[in-house]
Amino acid sequence: MLTATTLNAQLGSQRDDHLRVLIAGAGAAGLTLAALLRRHGLHPVVIERMPTMAHPGYMLALMPTVDTVLDDLGIHDEYLAHSSPLARYAFRSHRGKTLRSDEVGELLSIHGDYQGIERGILLDLLTTGGMPATFGTAISAVDVDGTQSRVSFTGSDAPASFDLVVAADGIHSRTRDLLPVGHVEKLDTQWGGWVSWCDPIGDLALGEEMWGDGSFLGVYPVKGRLGVFLGGPVAETTIGPAAFAARVRAEAPHLDERLLAALDAVAADPDPYFWPLTDVRAERWVVRGDEGACAVVLGDAAAGFLPTAGIGAGMAMESAWMLGRMLSQIPDRAALPRLLPALLAEWERIEKPRVQAAQQNSRTLAKLMFRRGAVVAWVRETIARMITVRAALGPIIQLVADQPDPDAAALRTIRAAAP
Ligand SMILES: Cc1cc2nc3c(=O)[nH]c(=O)nc-3n(C[C@H](O)[C@H](O)[C@H](O)COP(=O)(O)OP(=O)(O)OC[C@H]3O[C@@H](n4cnc5c(N)ncnc54)[C@H](O)[C@@H]3O)c2cc1C
Repeated sequence: MLTATTLNAQLGSQRDDHLRVLIAGAGAAGLTLAALLRRHGLHPVVIERMPTMAHPGYMLALMPTVDTVLDDLGIHDEYLAHSSPLARYAFRSHRGKTLRSDEVGELLSIHGDYQGIERGILLDLLTTGGMPATFGTAISAVDVDGTQSRVSFTGSDAPASFDLVVAADGIHSRTRDLLPVGHVEKLDTQWGGWVSWCDPIGDLALGEEMWGDGSFLGVYPVKGRLGVFLGGPVAETTIGPAAFAARVRAEAPHLDERLLAALDAVAADPDPYFWPLTDVRAERWVVRGDEGACAVVLGDAAAGFLPTAGIGAGMAMESAWMLGRMLSQIPDRAALPRLLPALLAEWERIEKPRVQAAQQNSRTLAKLMFRRGAVVAWVRETIARMITVRAALGPIIQLVADQPDPDAAALRTIRAAAP
């Protein structure tokens, strides 16, 4: 669990660290990094803009890229106990008929687990044993010109200095806007939808999606309940969740009890979270001042994903793990000026192409999913009947199979940077 702590208390705990890190954003990326650094005896300062973590949350399907991360943090068994296996995936036609069902869990099993978990539970697991964080706080200015980054905070008059500032504040990162990360490419599908929860019903290891003509309905199991996503073109969602759910119900006569219950859940939710389906890609992940100060963008702040391949959190956690493991190889403060920039450059060199490849896969699938028209639906369903899940997820499976080794990368870099 995160423990609400003042900024001053966190700065005090960090005083003797040989590497002083500030992490803005207590999401999957920021907390994975914080947990790893803490395991190596450091005390990264964690700030979170929200006043508390009380948020209804949403479901995450996590690819096996997270297994190594969770193993390293010693929480893999707990993760399995608090999540649900995603053994099967079914694809439904725009009329609601199941066109195919695939054993995705088995397909991925040679690489690890494929599980559904609530975001809030994942964050609790990442902070097992407690982790301090300062809530209601964000970075208002950051100056990377000196030997350390000088940071000003909202709600505090006292700036502080850090060896490394990590912008892990999500897809709409404001910290990214304060850093010279080059061009920030944004993609807006003009689609969006509501996220809600439904009681468990039917096969609890089955994720299902209906790609409609101007709508999308997905049901994803987590432990003890089903996460639901209902969306469509943003301009058409303005009628509200209940009316939109009624429209989908009328257009898809083959929906069964499970998906009808999912529609009812969204319609009955007094305040479902609306998720605009956009993504973002920062040109540079690492910023380095002339005198050595460093900052990075991490997770969705570096590359925020469309949901289509269900890999955003998996890649965010992998990037954080790579970064944390590589930084943990810095032996002392004397080595910092030599090793920190070199390790960050190597981290970006390895991770950015992997994350951007996964993001590209999500974009390609989005082109197929977020389009409307009866002919488009027919073509899509014909393709879906023919193409195997292995082929559709091929690039993602390859990324999972080729997960890099952070220790080898760090040792290589340290050797090359030897005086
Ligand atoms: C509805 C939904 C379903 C998804 N499903 C999947 C899935 O099935 N599989 C998958 O792999 N991925 C999925 N994703 C994507 C996944 O959630 C993200 O890729 C992942 O959470 C990114 O983690 P992050 O830590 O970078 O960002 P976030 O989880 O967004 O965390 C960022 C944190 O920073 C905080 N913050 C924001 N601004 C500031 C600021 N200025 N200063 C300080 N803190 C700030 C936020 O409050 C938040 O706590 C889904 C996303 C959504 C929205």
